Amino acid sequence: MSEAVKKASAQNGLTAAGDALLPTYARYPISLVKGEGSWVWDDQGNKYLDFVSGIAVTNLGHAPKRVKEALVKQLDELWHVSNLFHIPNQEEAARLITANSGADAVFFCNSGAEANEAAIKLARRYQQSVLGNGRYEIVTFAQSFHGRTLATLTATGQQKVKDGFAPLPEGFTYIPLHDLAALDAAVTDKTAAVMLELVQAEGGVFPVDPAYLHRLVKLCRERGALLIIDEVQTGMGRTGKLFAHEHYGVEPDIFTMAKGLGSGFPVGAMAAKEQLRSAFGPGSHGSTFGGTPIATAAVKATIETIVEENLPERAANQGEYLKSQLRSKVAHNDFVKDVRGLGLLIGIECAEPVAPIIEEAQQKGLLVLSAGPNVLRLLPNLLVSKEEIDQAVTILAELLNKRLK
Ligand SMILES: *Cc1c(COP(=O)(O)O)cnc(C)c1O
Repeated sequence: MSEAVKKASAQNGLTAAGDALLPTYARYPISLVKGEGSWVWDDQGNKYLDFVSGIAVTNLGHAPKRVKEALVKQLDELWHVSNLFHIPNQEEAARLITANSGADAVFFCNSGAEANEAAIKLARRYQQSVLGNGRYEIVTFAQSFHGRTLATLTATGQQKVKDGFAPLPEGFTYIPLHDLAALDAAVTDKTAAVMLELVQAEGGVFPVDPAYLHRLVKLCRERGALLIIDEVQTGMGRTGKLFAHEHYGVEPDIFTMAKGLGSGFPVGAMAAKEQLRSAFGPGSHGSTFGGTPIATAAVKATIETIVEENLPERAANQGEYLKSQLRSKVAHNDFVKDVRGLGLLIGIECAEPVAPIIEEAQQKGLLVLSAGPNVLRLLPNLLVSKEEIDQAVTILAELLNKRLK
């Protein structure tokens, strides 16, 4: 702690670590100070196998060399300029996204919520200003998660995220996932877009059924609603494809990215099809920090690494291995209800709340998280080795197999 921090703490009578922060997180009693590959260290020198990855952010592991070198080089050259000027890194990063997806144009921002906010704005503006049809409604799903700005928490299906923030923006409708009748009733001539995650991640690791998605896409096309896919958690190779929508053979009109996009450098992006380009002319949307030279240096190095090293395929293989190991070593236990997921986004549904298991795993040197009260969520980096997977499964088997039999 610096002298200035010590002096300020004493003056304010602050004692506990983090007293000067708003208590928006229930933090574990661990202070992480160093990371390398699949491993992190706390300030006591304890080492942990990291199957949280900053919640699907450090997809290339901690401090990946190529991204670090790109950042260091950029730090020596130029940190920030306004989007009123051309930013070569931003243009190249956008081209990498369009070259590796069905999208034609990209907008950079700083987080997943901002990317989804931009997607909602673009969909409404396209319908209202380009097509002139007055459509504004956004259809989303129960248990979804789209962020914590006012519009994106409104788009979010989980009630707990909205409590106490009324009045919420208008024009959002929610339906249960996989309910065709509800979908049919919800998509009307007021619908600007349907927005969904292809694996509901925060909501409990629920992959969307392909047959349902194909019906949904058909309905959107027939009725003039745009399709927005939230790839904030599922993108950047996490599920075994660069973007989860590739598994389904579906091309969204708009999709969003953030978590793994900069390997830990904060950055988000929204990508859209050609026809939407004209809806966002100069002055329609913007962000001071969106796509700075530094942020987009991280994006470029991240995407180049993922594509050149074929990491989505690696994630698919390692994910299959992790799931098969879990199924053979823990899933015979009545405490474990289900092992599911896509690629390296895996959920273990348990018979009881998993909070105590997460803390016991920490004591054994493994970091995992939850997705709702009863689901353990595993998010190792895409370069995780089989030996590391075996270590994690051994710890989880020990903790899960001593419970209900
Ligand atoms: C994390 C997440 C968000 C929000 O991203 P932030 O960067 O925290 O704003 C949105 N959608 C999904 C699917 C997410 O997992």
